[in-house]
Amino acid sequence: MPATTKKVPFLDLKAQYLAIRPEIDAAVARVIGNTSFILGPEVEAFEREFAAYSGFRHVVGVANGTDALVLIMRAMGLAPGFEAVAPAHTFMATTEAVTQAGGRPTLCDVDATTFCMTAETLERAWTPATRVVLPVPIYGNPAGLDGVLDAARRRGVATIVDCAQGHGVRVNGRRLGELADVASYSFFPGKNLGAYGDAGAVATNDDALAAKVRMWRNHGREGKFDHQFEGVNSRLDALQAAILRAKLPHLTDWSAGRRRVARLYREALSGIPGLRLPEETEGAEHVYHVYVVRVADREGVRAALEERGVATGVHYPLPVHLLPAYAYLGLRRGSFPTAEAICDTILSLPMFPEMTAEDVHYVADALRGVLEGRAA
Ligand SMILES: *Cc1c(COP(=O)(O)O)cnc(C)c1O
Repeated sequence: MPATTKKVPFLDLKAQYLAIRPEIDAAVARVIGNTSFILGPEVEAFEREFAAYSGFRHVVGVANGTDALVLIMRAMGLAPGFEAVAPAHTFMATTEAVTQAGGRPTLCDVDATTFCMTAETLERAWTPATRVVLPVPIYGNPAGLDGVLDAARRRGVATIVDCAQGHGVRVNGRRLGELADVASYSFFPGKNLGAYGDAGAVATNDDALAAKVRMWRNHGREGKFDHQFEGVNSRLDALQAAILRAKLPHLTDWSAGRRRVARLYREALSGIPGLRLPEETEGAEHVYHVYVVRVADREGVRAALEERGVATGVHYPLPVHLLPAYAYLGLRRGSFPTAEAICDTILSLPMFPEMTAEDVHYVADALRGVLEGRAA
């Protein structure tokens, strides 16, 4: 091992802040100066700007990405006990939201190459109680999404795209709002568009649904004290909206930066025995929320990279059906073999738009060294 070990963080939010510090600081000062802290003009402006960016008619800012999913399903007025199909390979907020909205999550397996649910894996999961389909462009990959949307439309079932990891994804050049009717977004700090705290949004082309979610997020009211029904408090605050507004104009460049890092990884890592790199699907523009490779002995490789100063992650170590929280579903190892094999072997490498070619090569050389050392 070299004597001078460089460190590459998994993600560097500080570098991003320093690159746009004057814009962020001005946005924060503006909100504090205006003393309008909850909803209000700053939130309305962000909603318009993010709608224009994502191609949806309406965006409704909410407290976080989990609430965005819950409030969509609440506003849809689904009968209690409804079923919603989600991929077994996702962050558990996707399925937790179904339960919070009074439904029951059902799961489907995912594709071994794209890690996403497909029309085929969805087909096996339908039941007479299925009312919602929840595709997740996992890691920022919208592969198979058009097929899932078509399959759900044919059945007359609503689709909600959990786009927490896929801000700015395009399919055949079309933005999500030009493809889907409803989506949820998270602006958790580490997401591709991240606030400085929790934040989320509902995006839809359905006027009535948007109006209903607006009421749901704010105690069931439109005006001041005209509460039409019991909603919740899930409002977006103006500081977060102002920070998101300062960042949004950079998002297209940041996505391009992530794709550049992915390209550099692919060049530097191809041809290593025992290493599988992420694949892109024709027409599906991947925005690389995370860069996920597959290796046998993932934990051993992870530890060896850590020793070389390379921080990694695992998204996620267990598929949803094997989490203790979902024991009640009565599923077991073997229920979704592809999702299980993925979770056993995935490793997320450092990925952020500010990564330099030198950072990428350092990570790639470290990984090559670890894997070739093992093969020898
Ligand atoms: C981050 C994430 C969420 C939840 O978003 P929060 O803002 O943290 O509530 C939901 N689904 C997926 C796929 C996510 O990655």
